[in-house]
Amino acid sequence: MVNKNDERTNRYAKQIKVHAIGAQGQQQLANASCAIIGAGALGSAVAEQLVRAGIGYLRIIDRDFVELGNLHRQTLYTEQDAEQFMPKAIAATNALKRINSNVAIDAVIADVQAANIEQLLDGVDFIVDGSDNFTIRYLINDYCVAHGKTWVYGAVTGTSGSTTTFTPQQTPCFRCLFPEPPELGAIDTCDTAGVLGPIVTMIASIQATEAIKLASGQSEQLNRKLLQLDCWSLQLYKLDIAHARNEQCPCCGKLELTWLQQQEAAATTSLCGRQTIQLTLAAPLPYSLDELAERYAASYEVKRNRYLLKLKYSEQITVVFFPDQRLMIQGTEDLHYASIIANKLVQI
Ligand SMILES: [Zn+2]
Repeated sequence: MVNKNDERTNRYAKQIKVHAIGAQGQQQLANASCAIIGAGALGSAVAEQLVRAGIGYLRIIDRDFVELGNLHRQTLYTEQDAEQFMPKAIAATNALKRINSNVAIDAVIADVQAANIEQLLDGVDFIVDGSDNFTIRYLINDYCVAHGKTWVYGAVTGTSGSTTTFTPQQTPCFRCLFPEPPELGAIDTCDTAGVLGPIVTMIASIQATEAIKLASGQSEQLNRKLLQLDCWSLQLYKLDIAHARNEQCPCCGKLELTWLQQQEAAATTSLCGRQTIQLTLAAPLPYSLDELAERYAASYEVKRNRYLLKLKYSEQITVVFFPDQRLMIQGTEDLHYASIIANKLVQI
């Protein structure tokens, strides 16, 4: 029988040798817990590094499923995951358990909203941002200010990315830096600028390093600059943001946590660069996904996996049903048209 301690020493030998980690750091890593919001490009890459490093507990929260168009940059996923339209939280967890079965991992298929964020992030030591939009980051920021938790921000578009680590009342917060969401079209998104795979792994590696510092109890070593990196030109900027901390900031200054208090979730959301509308139903459907599959089978081409139901509505439109009252309508960016389709489908 393999002694657990021997196994751990072997597995992490080269990591323990790293001066910054050592045996004590490794032990602290094993006791640490982290939630990753979004298991797309950044989130899945950070998750892989934390699991390989031997973090104790990881919660992977994602609202989406794997598609072929993800694979050039989302390194945990395979063609089979795309073929089976596996939820990313599940596909990531399956892959990660094959990498390190000692790490406790919870997969959560959910869209993080003000109404569920408290429950979704309960009990974890810190949070890694693997999301792809401003709205969710304001919400994470409010939650972290309310709970005094540190979060590691990351964003990528095109060949460039940025990251910093926010600790409430020690650093500026996200809202000190970005008081209001940008106007639609004012900044590049993955929709307008695309994204190159290597910048994802570069920014994710910095986020993972920050997470390892946090997990091994070395908060004083955290990156407090806003780091901006372009993997093509190899330009690197480290912006000093300490002065950006604003006592009048509605969030960390006045503690007006407006994003957290917004209990009314958006019923429809257009997903960045996807020609996809996400729609949250006001009430749960009175049918299970299996029952829905049976009812739709006569009129539509229907596919099912253990978690989701996919229906070909027309040549252009595909609808995916999630177990948590959500639908994704693919093939349109027209909110009104998506609502019409959803209404038609749920009135069965
Ligand atoms: Zn602030």
